[in-house]
Amino acid sequence: MAEILVLGAGMVGVTTALSLQERGHDVTIIERNVPGRETSYGNAGLIQTEAVEPYAMPLAPGALLQIAMGRGFDVKWTPSGLMSQMGAVWSYALNSLPAAHRRASQTWGKLIRQSTDRHAPLIAASGSDNIIRKNGFIELHRTPAKFDKGAKAVERFRNDFGVDARLLTGAELRAVEPSIKVEVQGATHWMDAWNCSDPGGLVAAYAALFQKRGGRIINGDAGDLHRKGAAWIADEAEGEHAVIALGPWSPAITERFGLRVPMVYKRGYHRHYHMELPPQHPIADFGNSVVLSPMRRGLRIATAAELTSHPRLTPPQLKHGEKAARELFDVGAPVEAEPWTGRRPCMPDMLPLVGRVPDQPNLWAHFGHGHQGFTLGPVTSEILADEISGGQGWDALQPSRLKRG
Ligand SMILES: Cc1cc2nc3c(=O)[nH]c(=O)nc-3n(C[C@H](O)[C@H](O)[C@H](O)COP(=O)(O)OP(=O)(O)OC[C@H]3O[C@@H](n4cnc5c(N)ncnc54)[C@H](O)[C@@H]3O)c2cc1C
Repeated sequence: MAEILVLGAGMVGVTTALSLQERGHDVTIIERNVPGRETSYGNAGLIQTEAVEPYAMPLAPGALLQIAMGRGFDVKWTPSGLMSQMGAVWSYALNSLPAAHRRASQTWGKLIRQSTDRHAPLIAASGSDNIIRKNGFIELHRTPAKFDKGAKAVERFRNDFGVDARLLTGAELRAVEPSIKVEVQGATHWMDAWNCSDPGGLVAAYAALFQKRGGRIINGDAGDLHRKGAAWIADEAEGEHAVIALGPWSPAITERFGLRVPMVYKRGYHRHYHMELPPQHPIADFGNSVVLSPMRRGLRIATAAELTSHPRLTPPQLKHGEKAARELFDVGAPVEAEPWTGRRPCMPDMLPLVGRVPDQPNLWAHFGHGHQGFTLGPVTSEILADEISGGQGWDALQPSRLKRG
């Protein structure tokens, strides 16, 4: 069995380490912060079995015009933020066309449907049941047109992927979520998804499980990864293999080893708010580009995508999300002085990189999970650990596809 370095202790890195350890390898994680404090901390906490299609760029002329003019709250951008990733954004747009998106969805759907099965043993072994709810989440439909569109999605996802969902009328929604104050047309209750009231806490618990099983976590900088003889060295650790699982920081490292990764960095924000009567489920209010998740710290309002190089002090998407939340619920004061921000690491073809870095001995890539890395970490970790242990891996996820153009 090999000695393996895993760079990064987000959801993806920690579950990679657990999957490799399970196969008998001797694994060391190198993390400059503490486990689960970056992107894997800041998300909406959904473990999504229903998200069978990756998130495509909205391409309808009306939607594009709205984005271009800076209206709406789904995608915001600044000229410098957009220019710095223009090539990747353009490629993302091309991959959002129906034929390419259908192709990506075939792989994506197979990954996402495994997510709760892959998390389940880790949740049990790490004693994390107290922060997991298995009651799905609710997607609001504020207008009749949105409700009809939602009904069609439910039917398609049920028929094609076996997703369990229930359409709720406005009255049924109020029975399920009595603290909603306003009339809405209806909702979809995505029944088989799970949600977590402390995403960073879940990653920390998985990391503690890895250590309990004999794994080592070094607090250090993996940015100096280099080769010495037949070994990979990072910080003070040495391994026969190295796995790059640095989320949005990964492309900077792979580039040094000949793999240019065009990444779309979709910034999101969240902030917690005090709430006397929090909702029973996370509430996705996509009409207002926001997800409201009941968390240990309060109601977490999480925003959609912003293409900016630097975070904003007063993000307009969060301001709008807070307004939408206050329309729906009695929401109290913010818990923190400042909002949290982080970047979703999105690949233009919407599939994560899981496999061998071309032309480098025993160097592996594991990142680019976009909108669903908290969900998918344990799924793609199993695929990568199999490949490192001599298995085939998944063709569609191989980093070599970037070299083919
Ligand atoms: C607002 C928002 C909402 C989201 N909601 C959801 C959701 O509900 N469900 C879902 O599945 N996904 C969601 N996501 C996406 C999900 O959070 C990410 O896909 C996922 O967390 C990525 O995990 P990761 O381990 O790849 O990256 P990270 O969690 O960012 O981990 C990378 C790690 O690498 C470390 N690192 C970086 N550089 C170095 C270095 N030089 N040396 C050592 N360590 C280093 C970092 O400290 C970090 O711990 C959301 C994202 C955002 C922003």
